[in-house]
Amino acid sequence: MVAHVGTPTPAPVPVDLPANAVELRGLTKIYQPTGKAGPKHALKGLDLAIPRGSLFGLLGPNGAGKSTLINILAGLVNKTGGTATIWGHEVTEHPRRARASIGVVPQELNMDPFFTPREMLELQAGLYGVPKRERRTDELLDAVGLADKADAHARSLSGGMKRRLMVAKAMVHTPPVLILDEPTAGVDVELRRQLWEYVRTLNRAGTTVLLTTHYLKEAEELCDTIAIINHGQVVACEPTATLLRRVDAKAMCFTLERDLTAPPPALEGFSVELPEPRRLVVRYQPSRQRAGAILSALAAAGIGIIDVTTEESDLEDIFLQLTGGAHDNTGVVHAA
Ligand code: ADP
Ligand code: MG
Repeated sequence: MVAHVGTPTPAPVPVDLPANAVELRGLTKIYQPTGKAGPKHALKGLDLAIPRGSLFGLLGPNGAGKSTLINILAGLVNKTGGTATIWGHEVTEHPRRARASIGVVPQELNMDPFFTPREMLELQAGLYGVPKRERRTDELLDAVGLADKADAHARSLSGGMKRRLMVAKAMVHTPPVLILDEPTAGVDVELRRQLWEYVRTLNRAGTTVLLTTHYLKEAEELCDTIAIINHGQVVACEPTATLLRRVDAKAMCFTLERDLTAPPPALEGFSVELPEPRRLVVRYQPSRQRAGAILSALAAAGIGIIDVTTEESDLEDIFLQLTGGAHDNTGVVHAA
């Protein structure tokens, strides 16, 4: 289309874009085991709406059901019950339309070492029936910083390059929804930043992004909305800022004038630690406890203070609060 000078042509306004890019209702998955183990209830009637245009983070401990959810969207796992709708297409009713609406970067990298990045993208575009003249191979390679590797063998690419190539591969058919399962696992810090920047760029250009991650800092910095799932159910789903405000925990860290051998009795009712004889950490809940009460108690006990710092809580605290902490089904919470 040719735009005429002086007469701005507004972008066509799509009439029936869905409000939610992805909508899950009562989504259930029960894996039927082959061995002695009983059936595994991986998703338990999960409801989730991912607004169109969002950069959405799906968090949860290992085994929470994140990959199961994504694999159902990708058409790799059959759901047991409920509905999963992508861009208005229910995955069981309209599997092909649903699949055409998403690009998926799986948790495991699988690529043929004998193809070059260019060949791989061309092949993928062919699979999705993208006509030659509409292919964006060079543009995509450029966007993920692999233009100079276009004709190199995939086996000569580093782990981070392969991950970025997978993102480009997921975008060949320009899907409105991009799904990344643990995109930065094993990617070093600098490349992680590059990948984030590209994901942000795609999002700003209108792509709805759903990503799962173990790195809570990643979700905190990148995502506008975060859902936390645990044991196959949603335990929180809120804008990132709202979620962060939910943490009702702060700490004051004191440097003391003299050594203490035990936490002072005056601070009964607070959670107190004495990591060093002159270092006292007092945790409190701002909603029901006042910082002033801590200071008065210390003054009344005759404990001199040289310095004090405070610590705000972050996503990790909320995550631990909502998922039952390190004693749940994960064992470990990684913070980047
Ligand atoms: P996450 O990606 O959040 O770590 P998964 O979706 O991989 O979680 O797993 C959710 C639960 O389902 C776990 O208890 C896992 O052991 C189980 N599970 C995943 N895949 C299978 C499978 N193919 N067969 C049986 N159980 C499975
Ligand atoms: Mg997983």
